[in-house]
Amino acid sequence: MNDCLFCKIAAGQIPSTKVYEDEQVLAFRDIAPQAPVHVLVIPKKHVSGWYDAKDEDDALLAHMMRAAATVAKMENIVDSGFRVVSNCGADAQQTVKHLHLHVLGGRAMAGEMA
Ligand code: 5GP
Ligand code: ZN
Repeated sequence: MNDCLFCKIAAGQIPSTKVYEDEQVLAFRDIAPQAPVHVLVIPKKHVSGWYDAKDEDDALLAHMMRAAATVAKMENIVDSGFRVVSNCGADAQQTVKHLHLHVLGGRAMAGEMA
């Protein structure tokens, strides 16, 4: 996708602070962190959202969750705990239409999901 911010970050056209990368995913620090650890995990391939994923993406989606856990280990927030969030659509305030997981940790979260 030519005009997608996260595709540009995945391609290295826009700089980001990389935390983890493999053939399928990139993890980088959120530009406006909501917690001491706030890392975004994105597929390198453009997928708009969960609604846009296909059967053939199943392995990729599972890999994203495993990458989120890898990031949590690398950031030393497994013992303290962490939250994985994915906003989908307007009511959830998804602002970037390229599938991503937020990995949040380093502080106690509120009891609600938001
Ligand atoms: P959403 O609101 O779609 O769930 O999450 C998008 C996230 O991308 C937001 O938390 C926002 O701070 C982050 N973000 C937006 N633009 C950039 C950018 O250029 N670089 C980085 N690292 N994060 C960004
Ligand atoms: Zn994209």
